[in-house]
Amino acid sequence: MVTPASLSPYETKTQEIARQLISATREHRSFFAQMRDQMRWDDKMLGWAMSNPGLRVQLFRFIDCLPSLHSKAEIARHLQEYLGNEIVELPGALKALLGFASPDSMPGQIAATTVSTGVEALAHRYIAGETIQQVIKTIERLRKDRMAFTVDLLGEAVITEVEAQSYLNRYLDLLGQLTEASQRWSTVEQIDRADAEDLPRVQASVKLTAFYSQFDPLDEQGSQEKVSDRIRLLLRRAKELGAAIHFDMEQYQYKATILTILKQLLMEEEFRDRADIGITLQAYLRDSIGDLKDLITWAKERGTPVTVRLVKGAYWDQETIKAVQKDWPQPVFNDKEATDANFEAMTRLLLENHNYLYAAIGSHNVRSQSLAIAIAETLNIPRRRFECQVLYGMADKLGKAIADRGHRVRIYCPYGELIPGMSYLIRRLLENTANSSFLRQNLEERPIEELLKAPVMKSSEFSILSSQLADGSQNSELKTHNFSNAPDTDYALSSHRQEVRQALQQVRQQLGKTYLPLVNGEYINTVNYVDSVNPSNPSEVVGQIGLLSVEQADQAIAAAKAAFPGWKRTPAKERADILRRAAELMEQRRQELIAWMVFETGKVVKEADPEVSEAIDFCRYYADEMERLEQGVAYDYPGETNRYHYQPRGVSLIISPWNFPLAIPVGMTVASLVAGNCTLLKPAEVSSVIAAKFTEILIEAGIPPGVFQFVPGKGSTVGSHMVKHPDVHMIIFTGSQEVGCRIYADAAILQPGQKHLKRVIAEMGGKNAIVVDESADLDQAVQGVVQSAFGYSGQKCSACSRVVVLEPIYDVFLARLVEAVRSLNLGPAELPGTKVGPVIDANAQARIREYIEKGKLDSEVALEMPAPEGGYFVGPVIFRDVPPTAVIAQEEIFGPVLAVMRAKTFDEALEIANGTNFALTGGLYSRTPSHIDRAQAEFEVGNLYINRGITGAIVARQPFGGFKLSGVGSKAGGPDYLLQFLEPRTVTENVQRQGFAPIEGAD
Ligand SMILES: Cc1cc2nc3c(=O)[nH]c(=O)nc-3n(C[C@H](O)[C@H](O)[C@H](O)COP(=O)(O)OP(=O)(O)OC[C@H]3O[C@@H](n4cnc5c(N)ncnc54)[C@H](O)[C@@H]3O)c2cc1C
Repeated sequence: MVTPASLSPYETKTQEIARQLISATREHRSFFAQMRDQMRWDDKMLGWAMSNPGLRVQLFRFIDCLPSLHSKAEIARHLQEYLGNEIVELPGALKALLGFASPDSMPGQIAATTVSTGVEALAHRYIAGETIQQVIKTIERLRKDRMAFTVDLLGEAVITEVEAQSYLNRYLDLLGQLTEASQRWSTVEQIDRADAEDLPRVQASVKLTAFYSQFDPLDEQGSQEKVSDRIRLLLRRAKELGAAIHFDMEQYQYKATILTILKQLLMEEEFRDRADIGITLQAYLRDSIGDLKDLITWAKERGTPVTVRLVKGAYWDQETIKAVQKDWPQPVFNDKEATDANFEAMTRLLLENHNYLYAAIGSHNVRSQSLAIAIAETLNIPRRRFECQVLYGMADKLGKAIADRGHRVRIYCPYGELIPGMSYLIRRLLENTANSSFLRQNLEERPIEELLKAPVMKSSEFSILSSQLADGSQNSELKTHNFSNAPDTDYALSSHRQEVRQALQQVRQQLGKTYLPLVNGEYINTVNYVDSVNPSNPSEVVGQIGLLSVEQADQAIAAAKAAFPGWKRTPAKERADILRRAAELMEQRRQELIAWMVFETGKVVKEADPEVSEAIDFCRYYADEMERLEQGVAYDYPGETNRYHYQPRGVSLIISPWNFPLAIPVGMTVASLVAGNCTLLKPAEVSSVIAAKFTEILIEAGIPPGVFQFVPGKGSTVGSHMVKHPDVHMIIFTGSQEVGCRIYADAAILQPGQKHLKRVIAEMGGKNAIVVDESADLDQAVQGVVQSAFGYSGQKCSACSRVVVLEPIYDVFLARLVEAVRSLNLGPAELPGTKVGPVIDANAQARIREYIEKGKLDSEVALEMPAPEGGYFVGPVIFRDVPPTAVIAQEEIFGPVLAVMRAKTFDEALEIANGTNFALTGGLYSRTPSHIDRAQAEFEVGNLYINRGITGAIVARQPFGGFKLSGVGSKAGGPDYLLQFLEPRTVTENVQRQGFAPIEGAD
């Protein structure tokens, strides 16, 4: 697929050009220039970052946070917190600068000024201007050097529709102003004309996903419609003005959708003959050469070329981390040389197809550019069809040297303010200081032969492409622990979207069937039935559930008691293997299970999918855990053995909730089963069909009769009867605090004939808070709060229902939060664009509405969205300035209602956050190390999440559960969970006979 570069017919010419270019980039500077450079703090910072990896991390973290700091004292304090850390070894100059006693002192102020001026200087190296006027000046300077430009507007992440519209408006305005300025420019032949054709003088680079705040590959059609409407406006305006538009390429998850959208749009009659539009491809992606081949085929059909900008890709670290975290195949090459080799192969393919596609080669690597130039010159590619591109400030000398050679060079000029520009700046700093970066290696004056060596794709990078990519196992070396979580579905892949669409259709055909209780291995008929309906459309009956009577419940408990001795004797390995088979079956039925959740509980696909992963993980993790515990512990002494081991408790009753209709019942049930207990599962009525599906899976996996039984029934009668039954040993409950406390009390009463005390594990509610301080990254914080508060309509026990915001950023945060929530799509859960679906039933809907009314008594409404008709919908509501003691700030609502609270200090914020009866989850958005430390120590929650959303705990990564009134028991998905289902025993044997016993180690 990739031709080794050494065989390339262009190699000799490439080397020749590269040597010329490299000498131009390594110009020898005068002694005075070097002296002056050494004085500059921006240079010093880059130098330190390159020489000291620990300092590089802390310095970049500090720079990331700097724009949010508003006083010199704050800057000085953060400098010390980030860089004064003992693990960072500081160069002498920096150590001296940071040696101040107090951030308010004069030396503190000096340090703050010195460093922030240095960072500003750094930013100005890579950002072409903060205003349009400044960027026009930069452009005019570039044109004097015979260089063209493309302008990129730096922006915050687009998370609201207001921001998406403003992104478009700002570009329309930019195009207008640049065009107006361009009227004054005299023609520069080298960049304004080619092959007797006038070229657009103005070019803008845009990010397609920024045209729609809810851009989501899962909702390909919805996203396409929204962005295409705005792009058409942009392209029309650009045509009127004679300007060109280039589309950047973004993260991998968007790539396929971006290409699909652009290919379709540019085939529309109105745009089909436009040659002034560009698309970007990233060579660090393993599948990018395939994309290029597809584009060539497409361009042949289209008939008019577009420009392909070829780059290596700007998000390598991010893509790699994401793949590891999600257990997905790494989409980028793992080896820098592989990216280089792929870039060269793509360069060749692109340039050899110059009849169909124009090429823009974007790289700061002398070798990468030289190969492109060698091919262009060898093939005599017409000038219109080829240009070289570099980023502003990254490779000025290279750009100039290529321009001097007569080629068209275009400089990518980002413009905008520093805060929105920060992520861009950090990407450039990372790129500049990475060990593998060409720029750095050239700066360090590595031997030229080494720098210009033809890159070769290692065969291992190819083998990853096949089998390992399929199961993600190539990531294993990057992991630090053994348990492999089941990966969620990557809906960026169209095949997966297709699968879930099909599953939804198929499951819809199966709605309305009857599901009976399973007692002692038989499905039994019942007198009473209840309908489980689709909360998005309650007239749709998902299934009819047979409800167990009290007598039938007694039969089930008797069957469990009878099955217990056999199950207890079954080797742990056999029990564990049944769980592993169940996991396998769930994996096979993943999309179907998702569809059942969508219909029965109104959960959207993106929320239901990780739930299947979690259920699978519970099976595999508890299977492994039981095999570990089964070993027991030997505390042997000479003459005496001491064996510590575990035995099961007996009969367990699982009472599960509807909000995680699969993962929670599966987790509680399989933990009990694998520990050797006979287990009865009583699901919530409204999610019984999903529990019935899990029952089918356990039967298929080989669970023996009586060992597991499916016992749907009325909680208040049958459920309560079973809780009190003398033959039940354990009750494992997840649900409301009220029911949990009742179960706890009932279980404590010793019943006639009962020879044990019952154990209760109860996961109850939460009133979870996220604290946002003034140093927080607001893009992240707003998105994290929106997802945590309104995902699954706020019906997760881990959901955020309070957000405590520090005074200085309160108004800005609230305004963005309100717009972000207003931008969410509400509707039936099965629609791919829906972000907020219905609540579970009419009771919940009424209760939530009551809370909203109560909230209005003491707090101001910042947003109340209308609810769609038909289902059990409640539009998201945000209350502002909520007093910490208000009902809506204290009681669990379990719906899409968020209380925003104001705090003057971080102390007060923590106090408010801790001021409820609950302690389940909590979050902090902050870039202040001392605040992060304090939250770790003082935030009273079972699961604390820092700088991320607070829902979505993963098995064996974030064991889940709380304390205070949030529950009793150890954390699900953690190393202590199974112990609760076991009785530990110690057996001591005196093995001495007549003073004799073997003594280990002695003869
Ligand atoms: C005009 C222009 C426009 C751009 N537009 C975009 C865009 O739309 N989207 C985008 O993503 N980027 C874009 N970029 C940024 C570009 O991706 C980076 O600047 C580029 O990757 C740096 O590569 P290089 O050839 O200059 O340097 P080199 O030093 O030769 O290459 C560095 C690159 O190698 C890759 N790499 C680093 N480590 C590894 C590894 N271990 N394994 C595999 N690969 C590795 C990374 O892509 C890294 O950026 C653009 C750049 C230019 C010049």
